[in-house]
Amino acid sequence: MHCSEMNALAKQYPQASRLFVLTSTYGDGDAPASARQFMARLKEFRAEKNLRYTVLGFGDRQFPNFCQFALSVDAALAGKGVSRLHAIELIDRCSASQFSEWGNRVGEVIGTPLFLNYCALQPATVKLELVERADYGIAVQAPTSIFRFKPAEQGGWLTASPRRFKALPPFEAGDLLGVIPPHGQPPRFYSLASSANDEIVEICVRKQAGGLCSGYLHDLKPGDCIDGFIRPNPGFRPATGNRPVILVGAGAGIGPLTGFIRNNTRCNPMYLYWGGRDARSDFLYQPELGRYLEDHRLSGLNTAFSRTDERAYVQDKLKQDELAVRQMVNTGAQILVCGGRDMAAVRQVIEDILKPLHIDIETLRGQGRYLEDVY
Ligand SMILES: Cc1cc2nc3c(=O)[nH]c(=O)nc-3n(C[C@H](O)[C@H](O)[C@H](O)COP(=O)(O)OP(=O)(O)OC[C@H]3O[C@@H](n4cnc5c(N)ncnc54)[C@H](O)[C@@H]3O)c2cc1C
Repeated sequence: MHCSEMNALAKQYPQASRLFVLTSTYGDGDAPASARQFMARLKEFRAEKNLRYTVLGFGDRQFPNFCQFALSVDAALAGKGVSRLHAIELIDRCSASQFSEWGNRVGEVIGTPLFLNYCALQPATVKLELVERADYGIAVQAPTSIFRFKPAEQGGWLTASPRRFKALPPFEAGDLLGVIPPHGQPPRFYSLASSANDEIVEICVRKQAGGLCSGYLHDLKPGDCIDGFIRPNPGFRPATGNRPVILVGAGAGIGPLTGFIRNNTRCNPMYLYWGGRDARSDFLYQPELGRYLEDHRLSGLNTAFSRTDERAYVQDKLKQDELAVRQMVNTGAQILVCGGRDMAAVRQVIEDILKPLHIDIETLRGQGRYLEDVY
């Protein structure tokens, strides 16, 4: 038996008669990092005549493109003329029972009982103490808070350069904080607004109706502790250099984008388009962004509020600025989009803006100039 990550697909497996492909889907139907080269490598792949394959997809049904990458892999293998051993199956949110049922069915097909018992790997966590919170959006039914934590145990900082938490690995804005919700549920992830250099772990969280982890975080008082861990997310970072960076977000998606602006001490051109509901209630980071406009870490700020007379969304503001946005893209700008699933409307407007340039989002994505953190 041979087992490897999908990026390591060989050109041929002369001895193999069965191929099991197990894959998650990332973001809007994309491959996880360990499988990004799979489709390209599959083009070179030569299947033996007796090879049979099956694909198992892992995903979250809350996302419109549920398990899309697994479906694409299944179709691509079929397109290469490889025969299926067993039809593709999809597992929702790490369901242990679905996984073990899949094992039973595949076991029958291969004639060897396959008892699968999923035990979640518990990441090593640290205790983080809430030191400060700022609450927004209650009056417009979009409770969203900025939470700032510091490590509660082995506290303090290493003074050596680079400075970092003793208890946490180095991290950057755009990386993720994994939070363990109560009752042993799987962790939820929140995009970090701070870097280790800020000496604080900062996240911006929208309270979801009936949401377990977001509700738990929103109930915290300063002094309370949570268990968390850092997960690097190097695929979501602004490019360095002096090409413009266009940041687009809505609601809590402003968290990492503010972190990028905070770090932009070289004052490279950075523009923020952001949408909330009502400036009087949920204009997150308003004072901080004002300071960054003054010190030129932020070159331009364009906000849209949907529950005021203008009734505008962030995509409307992008549309209004289409000439400027197109020109920036033409000079090499990078676009970073962050927020909830409703950011799909933003994607359509960006496609329209790009059309006269004869490029699309996928082209920009391939050049590392279109990055998304959409959840
Ligand atoms: C990579 C990544 C980064 C993320 N960054 C952030 C962030 O910076 N800030 C932030 O607030 N959230 C972020 N999230 C979402 C976060 O991880 C949780 O999914 C969210 O807080 C809901 O968890 P919960 O336990 O409160 O809800 P659950 O108990 O899991 O769900 C309860 C209910 O809420 C609904 N629900 C759950 N999530 C959403 C959603 N995103 N939009 C609409 N309805 C939803 C469900 O349909 C369900 O009815 C991120 C997610 C990912 C994958």
